[in-house]
Amino acid sequence: MFPPSIRRPKRVKMILPALTEATGPFWRPIKYSLFPPLGLATLAAYLPDDTQIELQDEHVERIRLDDEPELVIIQVYITNAYRAYALADHYRAKGAYVCLGGLHVTSLPDEAAAHADSIFLGPGEETFPAFLRDLAEGAPARRYESSVRTLETLPPVRRDLIKRHLYLVPNSIVVSRGCPHHCDFCYKEAFFKGGRSFYTQRVDDALSEIERLPGRHLYFLDDHLLGNAKFSAVLFDGMRGMGRLFQGAATVDSILRGDLIEKAAEAGLRSIFVGFETLSAANLEQSHKRQNLGRDYRAAIRRLDELGIMINGSFVFGFDGDGPDVFSRTVDWAIESGITTATFHIMTPYPDTALFRRMEAEGRIRTRNWDLYDTRHVVYETRGMSAMQLKDGYDGAYRKFYEWGAIAKASMNHVTMKHRAKHFAYASGWKKFEPLWDWVIRARRLNNMRPMLEAVLSKVTAAKGCDIGTEKVMSLSKAKRRI
Ligand code: SF4
Repeated sequence: MFPPSIRRPKRVKMILPALTEATGPFWRPIKYSLFPPLGLATLAAYLPDDTQIELQDEHVERIRLDDEPELVIIQVYITNAYRAYALADHYRAKGAYVCLGGLHVTSLPDEAAAHADSIFLGPGEETFPAFLRDLAEGAPARRYESSVRTLETLPPVRRDLIKRHLYLVPNSIVVSRGCPHHCDFCYKEAFFKGGRSFYTQRVDDALSEIERLPGRHLYFLDDHLLGNAKFSAVLFDGMRGMGRLFQGAATVDSILRGDLIEKAAEAGLRSIFVGFETLSAANLEQSHKRQNLGRDYRAAIRRLDELGIMINGSFVFGFDGDGPDVFSRTVDWAIESGITTATFHIMTPYPDTALFRRMEAEGRIRTRNWDLYDTRHVVYETRGMSAMQLKDGYDGAYRKFYEWGAIAKASMNHVTMKHRAKHFAYASGWKKFEPLWDWVIRARRLNNMRPMLEAVLSKVTAAKGCDIGTEKVMSLSKAKRRI
């Protein structure tokens, strides 16, 4: 049925199409040049060594369309779905065998199947090698569904395919899959259904991968880096003394529990993404974000502050319990708490999540134009305010949080001068110098900016050459609070 060129493809193209927001008026090139995604480079490791592979990330380069690959693999998110389908149609018309996989394909397989020869549901570590075996035998299936979930047999990621010079932090790394929690708006539930939804690499493998990475700076892409306390503790112990600095994501409860966050700081954690999402217990209850319920957000922030870890706080607007006052309350709270950077979202019911099913049952889904599911648009019937109030409030929250005065005020809510200066430099550098970043990206000079970022992320010290260390910062902070 298949010619030998398709059964054992020698030319393979892997594409991450640009998300709609990365090509629209809100495009912030630096946001999409921060670190390389690893999904396709991970799958590439299963292809034979003599395969000619081209991996293209449309967020940082123009996709070449005049080539003749025999096999094309495209990663599909919700807001790149239409672009992914157009690329798939293009390559199928040229005779290539086209595979689609990723979050959106798993959520809406029938929609994706119309544009693909094979589709992949869930993580691909087991299904992709199975597909390659079937393809070699000339009998690939139309649909592959992941059921066995393990990272223990994962070959090393094909980092040689990543164009490192196009990213600010080229050392992205993932040591786990999924998350132990079950928030009703999160894609994770849909993507991992039918098997384990949280699992890790072996610690030794993770440490070996870290050791192989050049430079100092790592960007952990894990949904929840502290999700398995035992694993993370051994990982951080192993990283201590490696001289790394890194960024990652974790939940409020994991920051408050035990001494894991101290171990992370010792290992080099300097900035963390935290999903606060809402200041309302009723909203947390309704969205099943129970791990945040009853947790003292301010205590988590103080703990991070004392360790010199900067915070990127994530907040969602538009829960049924939110009224028009939610925007100023949330932004004021974030500024007063000394949150370094904030990511605001309009609540978005992604297909195949519990939230989507609830909204659909209530007849509240307003559009199925997936391009609008970018957390900047209102795609459902709101309850506590109008759609326009929600959109305006969301836009206003970003403006207010990133005003110069607000950045300065939030910076002052730290213990040491060094931390205040770091906060000011990081927040203003991230949001206030867009033209400079655009120029740096166009001039292909991101490499030159990395030492500056690493300097901003360096450990909190009292004076030049004198590292007062975590314990002393903590006692300074406690003393200040007693005054
Ligand atoms: S904690 Fe974060 S990653 Fe985990 S289920 Fe909730 S939103 Fe998703």
